[in-house]
Amino acid sequence: MSQAVESPGVTVRVPGKINLELVVGPLREDGYHELATVFHTVGIYDHVIATPSDTWSVQVSGQTAEGVPTGDDNLALKAAKSLARRYGVDEAAALTIDKNIPVAGGMAGGSADAAAALVACEALWELQLSRDELEPLAARLGSDVPFLLHGGTAVGSGRGERLAPVLARGELHWVLWVSTDSGLSTPAVYAECDRLREAAGADVPDPVPSGELIAALRTMDTAAVGAVLRNDLQEAACSLYPVLEDVLEAGTSLGARGAIVSGSGPTVAFLVGTQAAAIDLSVGLAARGPAGDIRRATGPVAGAQVVQSVAPAGPPSFTG
Ligand code: ATP
Repeated sequence: MSQAVESPGVTVRVPGKINLELVVGPLREDGYHELATVFHTVGIYDHVIATPSDTWSVQVSGQTAEGVPTGDDNLALKAAKSLARRYGVDEAAALTIDKNIPVAGGMAGGSADAAAALVACEALWELQLSRDELEPLAARLGSDVPFLLHGGTAVGSGRGERLAPVLARGELHWVLWVSTDSGLSTPAVYAECDRLREAAGADVPDPVPSGELIAALRTMDTAAVGAVLRNDLQEAACSLYPVLEDVLEAGTSLGARGAIVSGSGPTVAFLVGTQAAAIDLSVGLAARGPAGDIRRATGPVAGAQVVQSVAPAGPPSFTG
């Protein structure tokens, strides 16, 4: 049999997420908060390429590569190693990440790369595992990782790792304001949320997802969805990053049907009715400020997907 001339590799495309609803319950004894959340993928993508190698490595390039760790603390590398350990794979992989999802932006980019690395290495090593079989490993890597294996729109409970898909027909148009300064640390935002709640003497009930959002998602009615977006971390994110108040105000006054900080922020998501309205809002936001990257995306989209199973020997290109 002749030797393959192409270097075998697997390319996986993975989107970022926003939370259409994030209800934060009481702090648990394990240090996590009990959550009721509605995850929703939007079409802003990272690509993770896994190729066979004698040693483990990760390289990061792309629009948002700055500040992403390239050592053992990279979540994609952690994911690949944990998959190898769990299934007794005696091989290593070289990972390449083309990064486009904002870092520390509340869009779960690190978790997305971890989900993509699981899917890429599962295919590379031909382990024949289903997404459901990858889920326990994904949940150990991070609360958002299981969702990014599946994508779409889903209710998350527990730490966010227990998922139930939401029946959602059609698509939503989003304009995202992405900070060009530093991001926000997720633990710092939760700590600020606890501090604000304690100062207010607020009683924190067990979190429950709202029926209104689930009903609005059935028809994807923009006004109905926009009216019930909710994020319990928003006040804390704004407290740590006050410019977010101005961003929310700018988008709302420019006609967005809904406005919400994504997860722990500082990315802000604006909901509009059509692609034309998304273009109008992005132009308006760019002109009015506060300064930031303005991106447009639709959701929901699929989670981590193999897009190419044998990479050509040349550099990869991402046109999709
Ligand atoms: P969360 O999942 O908590 O919403 P986030 O979207 O705000 O997180 P991420 O982009 O996931 O933030 O990054 C959080 C931190 O994880 C970063 O500051 C970075 O140091 C680390 N990290 C590790 N691996 C990665 C990766 N592959 N991509 C991005 N960040 C990574």
